[in-house]
Amino acid sequence: MNGMAAGKTTGLKQQRPVIIAGPCSAESPEQLMETAGALKEGGKVDYFRAGLWKPRTLPGSFEGVGSEGLKWLKMVKEETGMKVATEVGSEKHVFEALKYDIDLLWIGARTVSNPFVVQEIAESLRGVDIPVLVKNPLNPDLELWYGAINRFMKAGIREVGAIHRGFSTWGKSIYRNSPIWEIPRALKERMPGLLIICDPSHIAGKRSLVPLIAGRSIDEGLDGLMIEVHPAPEHALSDAAQQLRPQAFSGLMNDLDIKSPSEIKDEKSMIDELSSEIDMIDDLLVRTIASRMELTRQIEKIGDSRYRMTQKPILKQKTFARLYGLAMEDGLRPDFINRLFDEIEKESLHIETSSHRVIVK
Ligand code: PEP
Ligand code: MN
Repeated sequence: MNGMAAGKTTGLKQQRPVIIAGPCSAESPEQLMETAGALKEGGKVDYFRAGLWKPRTLPGSFEGVGSEGLKWLKMVKEETGMKVATEVGSEKHVFEALKYDIDLLWIGARTVSNPFVVQEIAESLRGVDIPVLVKNPLNPDLELWYGAINRFMKAGIREVGAIHRGFSTWGKSIYRNSPIWEIPRALKERMPGLLIICDPSHIAGKRSLVPLIAGRSIDEGLDGLMIEVHPAPEHALSDAAQQLRPQAFSGLMNDLDIKSPSEIKDEKSMIDELSSEIDMIDDLLVRTIASRMELTRQIEKIGDSRYRMTQKPILKQKTFARLYGLAMEDGLRPDFINRLFDEIEKESLHIETSSHRVIVK
């Protein structure tokens, strides 16, 4: 649906979603072939991915098998017929990858943060017809992302796309890299024809969250997915917590409920409408509770008459019986009504005792 630029033929799939899958890192020819075999069988994958040169946060971590893995990717391509993709982070990586007929290159988040390196890579690709996908930089900086994409376009790359892989944040988050959906949305607004896919693996950081983010990104209208898949993720040499087993990946592909843009729009507007009604009711609830408390204050002003003291327990009993009846009629659990009015009672009591205190003063 979203090719790079209208009117140009592209190697990237025209139909949503574009699916890229494979291990975070190539570890051995056997691991690559086993993963590729399983992915090929599922029939949903457009590009098989594997990282060869791994930009690791900490020194001493597994830094990839390097150029050696290019032969393995070539073997995957020859034996399965799948197209293959890898990350490049320097001019040298580009030359090596091109020697081995890699079909798609992506630029990692750490590299995108450095315009010198991005420019160097873009220059090294001048005159080469290969799709390049640019991940978002680590920090939530739309300009930097846009700038990197532009450097590739200006170098004459015909098919440039983007990958939303989330953004680093300081402090606790359930995500490894927070998805800030406004940023790919703004990028799409600025470059309407641009293919933007999502990498839920690096956003989630853990397997269990990958399907949710994948589904959400499709509902956001993004054009595809890059997902990390490993035959034995717990033994993976990088990103062990976030890679899916081939079986889980194929389950995800089957469960991905791909909606049309108009269905998504309808869903969004219904949710927005209902949420604003809930907001109105919540406002009303607070105002109503405040009015109720005001009545408590007025009764309190009358003081502890004998009538009030004798009526109070009877009234309370009657009130609860009435409220339970209402709750049952409207499908609310009596236990919930009990807890709710217990809290309201507590607050009323607080008002009563604090106004006593004022009187004592
Ligand atoms: C990767 O795709 O394995 C990777 C290193 O990703 P990122 O650049 O998004 O961290
Ligand atoms: Mn990874």
